[in-house]
Amino acid sequence: MTLHHATPPRDYADPSLHAAGLWIGGRWTAAASGAAIGVTNPSTGQVMAVVPDAGIAEAMAAVDAAEAAAAGWRATPPRQRSEILRRMFTRMTEEAEALARLIALENGKALTDARGEVAYAAEFFRWYAEEATRIPGEFRRTPSGAHNILVDHEPIGIAVLITPWNFPAAMATRKIGPALAAGCTVILKPASETPLTAYAMARLAEEAGVPPGVINVVTTSQPGPVVSAMLADPRVRKLSFTGSTGVGRTLLAEAAKTVVSCSMELGGNAPFVVFDDADLEAALDGAMVAKMRNAGEACTAANRFYVQDGIHDAFVAGLAARMAALKLGPGTDPATQCGPMITARAVQKIDRLVSDAVTQGARIVTGGTLPDGPGFFYPPTVLDRVPPEAMIAHEEIFGPVAPIYRFATEDEAVRLSNATEYGLAAYIYSRDLKRALRVGRQIESGMIALNRGLMSDPAAPFGGVKQSGLGREGGVTGILEFMEAKYFAAEF
Ligand code: NAP
Repeated sequence: MTLHHATPPRDYADPSLHAAGLWIGGRWTAAASGAAIGVTNPSTGQVMAVVPDAGIAEAMAAVDAAEAAAAGWRATPPRQRSEILRRMFTRMTEEAEALARLIALENGKALTDARGEVAYAAEFFRWYAEEATRIPGEFRRTPSGAHNILVDHEPIGIAVLITPWNFPAAMATRKIGPALAAGCTVILKPASETPLTAYAMARLAEEAGVPPGVINVVTTSQPGPVVSAMLADPRVRKLSFTGSTGVGRTLLAEAAKTVVSCSMELGGNAPFVVFDDADLEAALDGAMVAKMRNAGEACTAANRFYVQDGIHDAFVAGLAARMAALKLGPGTDPATQCGPMITARAVQKIDRLVSDAVTQGARIVTGGTLPDGPGFFYPPTVLDRVPPEAMIAHEEIFGPVAPIYRFATEDEAVRLSNATEYGLAAYIYSRDLKRALRVGRQIESGMIALNRGLMSDPAAPFGGVKQSGLGREGGVTGILEFMEAKYFAAEF
């Protein structure tokens, strides 16, 4: 194990650092095909690095490595697993600025957002370092009083972890933390757009003392066949996926073939409801966080603003002023408040949603005009008088656009909020806590923020209902997603 304080600082912007290979069994391994995936800096549109492009053979080698490490890791005492996770927290925290710069480079998000992500991501290691030593069990008498019930929790087995590009560090640590705490070995397949952060974290994990094969990282341009091959292998017992609902549905069908346990963190379409009695300034502050963290590229991003008649005009004016004042620029520029979108395709999708809304009668209050290149930029935009039938009310925008809808009654706010197949996150602003709770209970959503613009917390259960997913990450129950209950019917 390398002592962490002896490690010199790294320049994560150096492309040669990332050409090392796939991370399999504690070794950097070349892809047999010699093929590579280009990583584009979305602030410039230029390729900034390449990573190896794994095929099925390399993915199966990663499963072999995870299998070889499984018995040893499962038998490692929880206290020792905990201490290794705690060192991962320390290493990530020590390298926070370098990691934030890397995220700002490959994802494009503003440095302030990237710093926030690294801090949030590292916390999953600290939280699960603590949870690793508190794995629950049960001992009860049967209702008849004649027998005993013992319930133990065992690591579920090898886990395949698939992550999106919008939080390249946090979506990985939110899975790796509980999986390792539970005693599972893992294969991480990061998004093709943002693989560099995953490889950087593999280096930190090695330095923290994670044994070879416990964490494997594989990048591929053919996620469908590569992941299907892993799921078809009977040694793989868990799929933990974060990404779009469409890909989630496909993977659930694939996992069904071998009855692999699935945790699914999928898309969202969060309503942000502002009642007349809300504190206007607080609601505007919250709206900016809920909408603009990561320039709107978040599954929890406020996607539909429902604002009551009495506060509507002041809210529209206030939000437009704040959005118009944001500085658009490259992620790595410290002055940037809104970075680029991940791809040119993402910009085109946002533009299409805005054009459709305008065609249907929406008014652009600020933004809405594409800037000149280079890079994949879309300006902070506010739309008012958006008709509920517009496409933008039903699709994830995943960008810096705030569509505002007006409502009159509480029932209407609930009905509009629930008019979606998604159910991940919702925001409610009201000074009347009784009303806020009443409305929160009626909104179909896994998470509700009351008078807050941010809900993510490693210590809380994160996840959705309806087509936003299955299971919860983080919190006290997150570790159980990587464990199976074993029941002993005991006589003694
Ligand atoms: P995506 O297209 O679904 O991709 C997510 C991951 O799945 C990537 O690693 C991708 O690899 C991989 N993938 C794509 N097709 C696959 C297939 N057929 N088989 C196996 N893996 C496959 O989503 P995204 O565009 O990266 O991320 C944005 C989405 O994630 C949004 O819908 C957002 O709401 C959701 N999200 C949800 C949460 C949550 O916690 N609920 C958090 C963050 C994001 P490639 O990159 O190689 O295509």
